[in-house]
Amino acid sequence: MPDAISPVRAWRKWLLWRLPSRTEDEEEIRIGSSPRPGYLWPPLLAEPAVCRRHKPCEGAPSQGCTCGYYGVQDEAFVETMECLRAVPFVVLGSVYLWGRLIVGERGWRAEFAYPDRLYLPSDAGWGDAKLRHHVKNLTSYGVPVQAERLEAIVKAARRRNRT
Ligand SMILES: [Zn+2]
Repeated sequence: MPDAISPVRAWRKWLLWRLPSRTEDEEEIRIGSSPRPGYLWPPLLAEPAVCRRHKPCEGAPSQGCTCGYYGVQDEAFVETMECLRAVPFVVLGSVYLWGRLIVGERGWRAEFAYPDRLYLPSDAGWGDAKLRHHVKNLTSYGVPVQAERLEAIVKAARRRNRT
């Protein structure tokens, strides 16, 4: 299985997690992969994928397992977003995937991943203050963070698909 020499750029969504803190001003947020077991992506660090199965496979991600960092191709992302009935209350963005890669029908599972660019759909109903607050807190990842209408985010993915 070849390792990717240069990272692949994909799209994905994350959940937004609030770390326990005393006040809202000190609030720290993280982007997380899934509700359970809820891996939280650390800022400025790419940790190797870990298989969280009861009997973990060897060398995550492995063929025939479901572990690894997920990302979908531009086209698959655009398709998924265009089928939505409501704007999702999540973080969307492009992500770099590298290391060991498992190629799937719509994207990849990777050994390493780090966000390239993060978007908060401004029409998801966050509220202006909350949106600004989340955008500011997400800058801890050291990548561009933007609040955009979902339509504009999808357009960015579509543009990327053509280049
Ligand atoms: Zn596994």
